[in-house]
Amino acid sequence: MGGATASKPVDDMKYVVVSGGVLSGLGKGVTASSIGVLLKSAGLRVTAVKIDPYLNSDAGTMSPFEHGEVFVLDDGGEADLDLGNYERFCDLNLYRDNNITTGKIYSKVIEAERRGDYLGKTVQVIPHITDAVQNWIEDIAVVPADGIEGSPDACVIELGGTVGDIESAPFIEALRQFQFRVGRENIIFVHVSLVPVMGPVGEQKTKPTQHTVKELRGLGITPDVLVCRAEAPLSDETREKLAAFCHVSPRAVMSAHDVSNIYRVPLLLQAQGMCEALGIDCTKTDLMERWEAMADRVDNLGQEVHIAMVGKYTGLTDSYLSVIKSLQHASFAVNRTLVIDWIEASNLENNSHSDWAVLKAADGILVPGGFGDRGIEGKILAANYARVNSVPYLGICLGLQIATIEFCRNVLGLEGANSTEFDQNTANPAVIFMPEISKTHLGGTMRLGSRPTIFQVDDCKTRRLYGGGPQVDERHRHRYEVNPDLIQKIEAAGLVFVGKDETGLRCEIFELDGHPYYVGVQYHPEFKSRPERPSPPFLGLLKAATGGSI
Ligand code: GLN
Repeated sequence: MGGATASKPVDDMKYVVVSGGVLSGLGKGVTASSIGVLLKSAGLRVTAVKIDPYLNSDAGTMSPFEHGEVFVLDDGGEADLDLGNYERFCDLNLYRDNNITTGKIYSKVIEAERRGDYLGKTVQVIPHITDAVQNWIEDIAVVPADGIEGSPDACVIELGGTVGDIESAPFIEALRQFQFRVGRENIIFVHVSLVPVMGPVGEQKTKPTQHTVKELRGLGITPDVLVCRAEAPLSDETREKLAAFCHVSPRAVMSAHDVSNIYRVPLLLQAQGMCEALGIDCTKTDLMERWEAMADRVDNLGQEVHIAMVGKYTGLTDSYLSVIKSLQHASFAVNRTLVIDWIEASNLENNSHSDWAVLKAADGILVPGGFGDRGIEGKILAANYARVNSVPYLGICLGLQIATIEFCRNVLGLEGANSTEFDQNTANPAVIFMPEISKTHLGGTMRLGSRPTIFQVDDCKTRRLYGGGPQVDERHRHRYEVNPDLIQKIEAAGLVFVGKDETGLRCEIFELDGHPYYVGVQYHPEFKSRPERPSPPFLGLLKAATGGSI
């Protein structure tokens, strides 16, 4: 990737394609994000694209318990959680078009066919789908995602799924063609694979990687770099064997073994020559030093702080990935080791002794966003416990709504107060359906994306945490809101809506008078948290939970 000029570090857009083999869950997203960090450290402006070979148009209608969280973008795009990884690692704000799906590509091609754009031709996967993929990538790659005008210099493309899947075949074919479109010198293929250990002597096995590379090469893509997931570092012997059998230079075989924390991954790749393999000079900025300092800090955090997360669990923590990350970022800032105590909300309803004991022992309580009525009463009990016992509390979206319901029931005495989401006929609707949103279509009908919140008071905890400005912009994903008719009554009793939307009708932030930290936000602050810039409401929770002042 040479060709630097005085004004721009590179002449043409550089692409790095990250594919995966053998099995899913190898950390392709972290690899892609880490490569983004290395490109940035070489002074390149970066953007990223995730390709998801499923037929859904976007992740909006997909269950987070099956697929991991739905990551919400500024423009309201509901995307795969890997976009969150790129945003956090590379400090970007991406768009819905940065997430390509089979559904989106086919819709676009079929729409064009209906318009008659193909002039009587037979519309086929090759060339029409593959062309549409390539056009899409080229169009979105030049859109800046770092808040600065002008085109990025490099685009990291992550191909979801595993090479060999039927679903990903058209995308692999598109990327194979793409290398000729952009020039072989402008594209690098990185393949992430697994090197398992077998037998009593702990031999590192190369065969799965050999097979997946063979498969990829059979589809016309020769990887330039192999990133090998392994428990322990790859031995020299393994490296050489992989190089010999997979047609890559031994220097381009990277060991992605287990490390103490995720922030070490870019450093691990850099130390093994990933920058040379990408043809970049990673010493151009102080970014890698900052990552090293962060990785060291994360390894040396102080005593534990316990945050109870009261939600719906099916064992897939990825369904709350950004919330977990935001708590971690905030814990780094207060120099504490974060322990998340997972509490199944319905267990609180059933008076589970052990769950109540965990809740009561926590330094702070968080109720994250959610849909559907399972566990609602348990969440209300948790909010009540936090309110009455002065335990720091952060309610996100649904967490704001259930805390408002709790307040209406137990402070205002509004019997059976509820959200119309859970009880359509409640006598006391504390949270109501937002009228302008469609009742008939679930996909893409929510109040989504970045919307302004205007502070209603000159000084309050959240305003201070956000730096004191008059307005904040955070991302939303909801259909219901606090009933505007009740606001005056609720506020008079001490739960103050210190932040509202620009119409002054919708409640965005509440704070409880006289409580150390009882905060609810209608938006999802977790989507904008960064390792070095923790999200303010989370920072407030961690500060309050560790006895700090806000
Ligand atoms: N189910 C609630 C609503 O639609 C909360 C959504 C959420 O927490 N993201 O308003």
